[in-house]
Amino acid sequence: MARIVILTGAGLSAESGLGTFRDKDGLWTKYDLEDVATPEGFARDPGLVTGFYNARRANLLAAAPNAAHLALAELEAAMPGEVRIVTQNIDNLHERAGSRAVWHMHGELMRALCQACGAKWDAPAEMRVADACPSCGKAATRPDVVWFGEYPYHMEEIWDAIRAAELFVAIGTSGQVFPAAAFVQDASRAGAETLELNLERSEVSHDFEETRQGPATEIVPAWVAEMLGC
Ligand code: NAD
Repeated sequence: MARIVILTGAGLSAESGLGTFRDKDGLWTKYDLEDVATPEGFARDPGLVTGFYNARRANLLAAAPNAAHLALAELEAAMPGEVRIVTQNIDNLHERAGSRAVWHMHGELMRALCQACGAKWDAPAEMRVADACPSCGKAATRPDVVWFGEYPYHMEEIWDAIRAAELFVAIGTSGQVFPAAAFVQDASRAGAETLELNLERSEVSHDFEETRQGPATEIVPAWVAEMLGC
């Protein structure tokens, strides 16, 4: 009975047509992080930030899970034991592929958050700053995504799962955003085997026992087939 924790990042969804952040042509080459992914940026220009996430949501609605998302869902369904996904992605492609045990540590593009009372609800395709909160009625709507400088979600449960893991796998993440970048060291210290699956070597490749390079849609299904003995 295996206990597997899988950390996923933007690289997993790249072949579904969703841009990564730090690659050449990534989103940060087109937008300033300080403008669209910080609470200060939102306070300065909420319309710009809401528009940025409306565009991300439109891309997501037009996208579909790829072979890597589907393979991870198959692993969760078929592997005896516990398979948990910790994702930095704000898209919902894991869920649409059929994965059920998913923690979104950076929030969800398809959810809205009231800055006044903390209520959360399903985001409309086109969110507006003036949208009223269904709970308190105030016009204080923002995307339910975790911005730089904010505390990621589910951290206690995630650390517990990492400490209990026998295998920690990171897929499609550059290892530049903390605390996720340190998970591999936490997992190693707790005695887990560690594996990185990424297009190329990352900033944290040297912390993994094993690394494999290639597009997620090829190397993830191959790894899952190995795990399931197919
Ligand atoms: P990142 O852009 O920093 O790194 C992406 C990594 O994926 C790189 O190491 C790159 O080499 C690799 N990669 C690119 N294409 C790949 C492919 N086809 N197969 C396998 N690997 C591939 O992304 P990150 O590490 O996830 O950065 C974290 C931040 O990015 C988070 O805050 C997250 O919320 C945000 N983000 C999310 C999405 C999404 O929800 N889909 C998209 C962009 C950024």
